[in-house]
Amino acid sequence: MLPPLPVVSPVSAEIRLTYVLRHFRQAYQAVPVVSIGYASQQPQVEIADCAGSFFAEQQPYPAPPNVREWQGRQLPIFFDSSPEKLLLELLPNGRAYIHADLISAAFYLLSGWQEYFSDERDRHGRFPYSASMQYRYGFVAVPVVNYYFDILKTAVEHVTGQPLHPRCWANGASFATFVTHDIDELRSAWKTPAKAALRSGNLLKFGWQLWRHFTRPDAWNNLELVQQTVAEYGAKSTFFFLPEHRKSANGTPNADYNIRQKWPQLAAAIGGSEVGLHASLGTAQHGGRLKRDEHRLQHLRNDVKAYGIRFHYLQWEPRITPFLLHTLLYEYDSTLGFAEHFGFRNSYCLPFQLFDFTTCKSFDFLEIPLNVMDATLHHPNYLQLAPEQILPALQPMFQEIERFGGVCTLLWHNDHFDPANETTGPRQFAELMQYLHSRNTAFVNGYDIWEAVM
Ligand SMILES: [Zn+2]
Repeated sequence: MLPPLPVVSPVSAEIRLTYVLRHFRQAYQAVPVVSIGYASQQPQVEIADCAGSFFAEQQPYPAPPNVREWQGRQLPIFFDSSPEKLLLELLPNGRAYIHADLISAAFYLLSGWQEYFSDERDRHGRFPYSASMQYRYGFVAVPVVNYYFDILKTAVEHVTGQPLHPRCWANGASFATFVTHDIDELRSAWKTPAKAALRSGNLLKFGWQLWRHFTRPDAWNNLELVQQTVAEYGAKSTFFFLPEHRKSANGTPNADYNIRQKWPQLAAAIGGSEVGLHASLGTAQHGGRLKRDEHRLQHLRNDVKAYGIRFHYLQWEPRITPFLLHTLLYEYDSTLGFAEHFGFRNSYCLPFQLFDFTTCKSFDFLEIPLNVMDATLHHPNYLQLAPEQILPALQPMFQEIERFGGVCTLLWHNDHFDPANETTGPRQFAELMQYLHSRNTAFVNGYDIWEAVM
């Protein structure tokens, strides 16, 4: 199940610096030329070198972080060997010293090191939240790498005497929101009430459900409603379609619809909305199957390839999947969030590029991290938030994204627009959208993000 670790080379300090500083420069507008590095380079902003041989080895976890305060927030600081010293020391001669190795810490989290080198996977082949540093040290809802960059930004401002501003989005909006829908089921709304009627012996009700199923449109065949609901907030939907309707080998379902039969109706329902590929079970580890899914969708769309992709069940194998997306020339992926908890899987709230441990370079495609999925909020295996707890639980995360000019990626499945869903349904979605709209977010789709960033 778990592919063996590929041959990897040590990640030198120079490679870590290049990777992290490129993301730092993308996070702010017009960063002036300033040297940032380790002591041997005699830079204007000097970073303490504390990673030792960690990046020459293959251990998934570094030493536990120290907790330091930065602007009123408690932050986990990895690679911090002098906790008695100030985190940031601003010197009068146009220099600054950061007494923890924030470059290595940022590299560790952003690159996805822990999941690449960890052997832990769950029954769907995913790196489990419970095996993450975010879980262990309780920082999943804090974009820690953005805070590291905030410290670096303060040092750069001191050295150059110029203020830095986070990047901004369409019409000057301070953050962006990416509303997405994975289309798994279009014809199964009747099943739960029908089963309940049968179980309680109410044959009349059961018969009515069956009759309704065969004669009326299913409540989950609702993409026009989804598209219109989202458009009412001035927002755009991105629909990820699942071109495989056969179950996976272990019986886990893919789509409950046949995309080839349904396509004319679906295409009409979503109008000009963006279409992405929702790649079926097993494809995250199998280039041939992924290519087959891609062909099926592309064929229906007059040979137009989708720009973006998200894997069904958020399946992702860090040792294989990024390589497949890079090879198949996707512009972006939006799979990387934890199914078990909302927040920041790579501790970063902006789109970024994953690191290729076999070549020591960035992958070309953009990762637009997934922040929250409807099912995560209320599910037997995940969280069990009451409906009125959802917005208050998510608000601090939204505020972090707004603070750093990031992208808030929501996944609301079409079946969660069914009014019968009272836990993570249309009402809860409306509350989140009203909040985001009130904060003047820029509502964008995946292509808009790719165009703005790349
Ligand atoms: Zn799915």
